[in-house]
Amino acid sequence: MKKGKKLYEGKAKIIYATNEKNFVIQHFKDDATAFNNKKRAKIDGKGILNNRISEHILKNLGQVGIKNHLVKRINMREQLIKSVEIVPIEFIVRNIATGSLTNRLGIEDGTVLENPLIEYCYKNDELGDPLVSKEHIFTFNWATKKEIEKIDKYLHRINDFMIGMFRGIGIKLVDFKVEFGRHKSGNKNEIILADEISPDTCRLWDINSEKKLDKDRFRKNLGNVMQAYQDVARRLGILHEESNIRTVKFPKPKAVKIKKNK
Ligand code: UDP
Repeated sequence: MKKGKKLYEGKAKIIYATNEKNFVIQHFKDDATAFNNKKRAKIDGKGILNNRISEHILKNLGQVGIKNHLVKRINMREQLIKSVEIVPIEFIVRNIATGSLTNRLGIEDGTVLENPLIEYCYKNDELGDPLVSKEHIFTFNWATKKEIEKIDKYLHRINDFMIGMFRGIGIKLVDFKVEFGRHKSGNKNEIILADEISPDTCRLWDINSEKKLDKDRFRKNLGNVMQAYQDVARRLGILHEESNIRTVKFPKPKAVKIKKNK
């Protein structure tokens, strides 16, 4: 498949056309933005890690039946994906209250929610991605009732899967944002998971220390952003740099005498 012209450039990614109408190339940049673009920086290597982490998560989600746009990773920074018409909603799933939820409603930071909370935000940078209700979505035809029903089901399944996956590597999934799109296959439009899932779009806390391993390190000037992203990749088993592997020393096993059966 041949890479064509640039179709769209966002804050962290670029989309290129290919010679096939139904497929595009997603390129991960090193740019980081926060607070509605007011804070910006380049974080060397972030795009490479997000490409790998997102590939890993979407591949796994695909295997448990969550249809998504990933076809395959092409190189360090690019993936071949199915082209979609993005639903103009950011779908946020929260397990622990933090970030804008605590600021908006005065809920204590770190409150564990009894059930996952789903929030819908209208994707519009000029308006600062405002929180909207399902009624807004239907009134302004941003998505149909059937589409939102399907997406809500997907959101719970994605959350369940990711909670388990991260718990297995000592990480709490605090919250995350995902996007969905309509992919044309034949003459029907199918809702599939799109965009990316990475430490840019999730809040990830170490289970024991509650150390932040996500974009909050950039938002809050906590430093060591790349180290945190690398830690996530390493724990997921997708980073194998010798220099970064912590060596664990096991005590020498004691010699044990085995008695022969008489
Ligand atoms: N999020 C995102 N993109 C956005 C807004 C939020 O990926 O434009 C993610 C964010 O990283 C977090 C979750 O969605 O994992 C909930 O974010 P919140 O609404 O608390 O956003 P804040 O304004 O605090 O970043």
